[in-house]
Amino acid sequence: MRLTRAFLPTLKETPAEAQIVSHRLMLRAGLIRQTSAGIYAWLPAGLRVLRKVEQIIREEQNRAGAQEILMPTIQPADLWQRSGRYDDYGKEMLRIKDRHDREMLFGPTNEEMITDIFRGYATSYRDLPRNIYHIQWKFRDEVRPRFGVMRGREFLMKDAYSFDLTKESSEHAYRQMFLAYLRTFQRMGLKAVPMRADTGPIGGKLSHEFIILAETGESAVFYDAKFDGQDWAGSDLGYDDVPALEGFFEQVTSMYAATEEMHDEVAWAAVDPASRREGKGIEVGHIFHFGTKYSEPMGLSVAGPDGQPVVPQMGSYGIGVSRLVAALIEANHDENGIKWPDAVAPWKVSILNLKTGDAACDAICEKLHAALPDDAIYDDRSERAGVKFADADLMGFPWQVIVGPRGAAAGKVELKRRMTGEREELPIEEALAKLL
Ligand code: ATP
Ligand code: MG
Ligand code: MG
Ligand code: MG
Repeated sequence: MRLTRAFLPTLKETPAEAQIVSHRLMLRAGLIRQTSAGIYAWLPAGLRVLRKVEQIIREEQNRAGAQEILMPTIQPADLWQRSGRYDDYGKEMLRIKDRHDREMLFGPTNEEMITDIFRGYATSYRDLPRNIYHIQWKFRDEVRPRFGVMRGREFLMKDAYSFDLTKESSEHAYRQMFLAYLRTFQRMGLKAVPMRADTGPIGGKLSHEFIILAETGESAVFYDAKFDGQDWAGSDLGYDDVPALEGFFEQVTSMYAATEEMHDEVAWAAVDPASRREGKGIEVGHIFHFGTKYSEPMGLSVAGPDGQPVVPQMGSYGIGVSRLVAALIEANHDENGIKWPDAVAPWKVSILNLKTGDAACDAICEKLHAALPDDAIYDDRSERAGVKFADADLMGFPWQVIVGPRGAAAGKVELKRRMTGEREELPIEEALAKLL
């Protein structure tokens, strides 16, 4: 993509309304544009990141055995009346009336709808276990939408729902998602710590929030430094190995990690003082085992092996897809801009032509651009070098290929790694080999 043809509107000024770094950088790097409070349009660079984040989530959900569907954004109120949540949900729910005066709503989550859909097909224990997810826009009329897409009103969520015959099997489904989440966030280059979350009247230990550490996080967190440097993505632990997965889950959850609400001073005191870490965190995912909370009132039941009716056990598993884009920037930036991890970068490479019109520079840039058709942004503007460097740093592409007249004459280009700042001068072919 040539910058002179691209729709990548960067801003020089820092927008006054943005209080946190990710929001500032998302506006300045031209990723999003607010259209009303807490509601955003995604511009090309932002959309490409959003899609990459979504794709990593999708691949890991599929790998864990979940199946993708797509439910609508608009839901009928009667589903929520059946579960009893229509009144409880309060003002966060955006309620709509259609032309026939029927009460509808813009879905803030989908427990009711998926339970109703599943009820239409599941008749026997053979229809279990199942895990079904979708990646769809949600709407919550937050009291204080803020920090850009971090706390939007309209936001993209991946939500999965598991259905099982027994509590034991349902707990296995929970652990499968637990592992899938650790792998998902690690693939994005993020350290997300699973922290015990409140289970309310449902009770039990099976609710975890996955928290990214960042100064701008909204909740205080306490965790054991043993979480640092763990390799979840690399382990070959399989999703169907029930005892191994249980052992893994026990091992990970035996390490202390809690948000403010769940913090336990007594347990904390038992953690090696040198290993105690405190900070602020951002909730990027939340998993919850809730038994028959929805299956029961929604009338979901199947025939068990002995023919007797069984009400399936359920869990739900959310990831804030659009919030993750902001969280990724909170975790990866410096004073000059974004430093995208390779896995989620909107484009992998930026080609900086320091002297457009110079035959050698133009030829090298054209060649590189042609060799990286969907992965490169070619800065072919007739701007000063300083402007090009600043924009490339701001937009955060993992690699910058700097093509100047002196190097070009010698058949060389400079390669800069945005994440580390490392630079090296290389013959064109060698540079290209690194980028492909
Ligand atoms: P929060 O505590 O931040 O309000 P939540 O606990 O209400 O989030 P869940 O119902 O657990 O959210 O939804 C699953 C995930 O959806 C969250 O972990 C978060 O990543 C994301 N999410 C929730 N609300 C928003 C929002 N307003 N904007 C962006 N992402 C959100
Ligand atoms: Mg909330
Ligand atoms: Mg929360
Ligand atoms: Mg939550």
